[in-house]
Amino acid sequence: MGKLFGLIGHPVSHSMSPSMHNDAFRNLDVDHHYQAFDVKGEDLEAAISGIRALGIKGFNVTIPHKVNVMKFLDEVDEEAKLIGAVNTVVNKDGKLIGYNTDGEGYLQSLLKVTGQELQQMKTLIIGAGGAARAVFTVLSRYGVSELDIANRTNEKAAILASECNCGQADVEVLSIEEAGERLNEYDLIINTTSVGMSPHTDHLPIHLKNLKKATVVSDLIYNPLKTKLLLEAEGKGATILNGVGMFVEQGALAFEKWTGVAPDRHNMENIVLKQLGGF
Ligand code: NAP
Repeated sequence: MGKLFGLIGHPVSHSMSPSMHNDAFRNLDVDHHYQAFDVKGEDLEAAISGIRALGIKGFNVTIPHKVNVMKFLDEVDEEAKLIGAVNTVVNKDGKLIGYNTDGEGYLQSLLKVTGQELQQMKTLIIGAGGAARAVFTVLSRYGVSELDIANRTNEKAAILASECNCGQADVEVLSIEEAGERLNEYDLIINTTSVGMSPHTDHLPIHLKNLKKATVVSDLIYNPLKTKLLLEAEGKGATILNGVGMFVEQGALAFEKWTGVAPDRHNMENIVLKQLGGF
C-alpha cells in the first residue's frame, strides 16, 4: 500500500514541494503521495498528533513552524539542534525524528560552483535568520576558515556567531554598511535575507560598488531566479548562484531520509524551474 508524506506550513499553497516529490515517487514506481497541509500556529500541536495517528511516514516543515515543531518531536538530530530549526521529519516506527536538510542542501549546491576551494574562501553571510543559521553552521562545519556575518539587527548576528560556530571559524560581526565598504575582501558573498524576493524585486540587501570581479555571489532566493543582487553581480563579472539548487538538494536529502533512495535531482530541478517559469 502507498505511504503518505507531506508538508506543514502557513501558507503552503504556492509550495513546489508536492509536485517535486510526487514526480520522484512516480519515477520510483511506488504508490506514495506527498500532500501540503496548511497549518496555523495555534494548530501545530494538534497537527503533529494527527500525523502520528494517521501514520504519515515523513514530512517537511516550513515557515512559520521550523523552530516551534521541535518541542513536539521525539528526537532532534545534533545539526538541527545547532541550527535551531527542523525542516524534515522521519516517522521511524512511530517515533518522530527531526532533521535539518537546508544547510547540507545549500552546501551541496555551493560546492558545485566553488569546488574544494570553498574552505579557503573568505565568506560574508548577509542575514541572521533561520536560513543564515543553517548556512553558517554547515560552512563552519565544512571548515571555511573566515566567515563574517552582517545583519540589519546586529544582536541576532552576534548570537548566531556564538551559537553556530561548530568548526571554529574566524568570525567578525559587521553592520551592512561596514560589510559594503569592505566587500572587496570577500571571495564568497551569500544573501540569506528575503530582501529582493518577489514582489520587492528592486531591493538590494547590500551595495555592490566595492565588489571584486572574481567573487562568487550567492542568493538563497529563487523567486525571481535572478534577483537584483545576482543581476548586478553578474554585470560586474562575478559568478552567481541562485536558490534553486539549495531547494532541490534539501528536498532530495529529505526524500533519501524517507525512502532510502536517491531521487533524480535533474528531474526535480526541471520541475522546479518549470513551476518558476525558468524554461
Ligand atoms: P527569517 O528567519 O525570517 O530571516 C529573515 C532575515 O532577513 C533576517 O536576517 C532579517 O533581518 C532579514 N530581513 C528581512 N527583511 C529585511 C529588510 N527589509 N531589510 C534588511 N534585512 C531584512 O527567514 P529565513 O527562513 O531565514 O529565510 C530567508 C530567505 O531565505 C527567504 O527569502 C527564503 O525564501 C530563503 N530560503 C531559501 C531556501 C532555499 O531552499 N533556496 C531555503 C530556506 C530559506 P533581521 O534579523 O534584522 O530581522
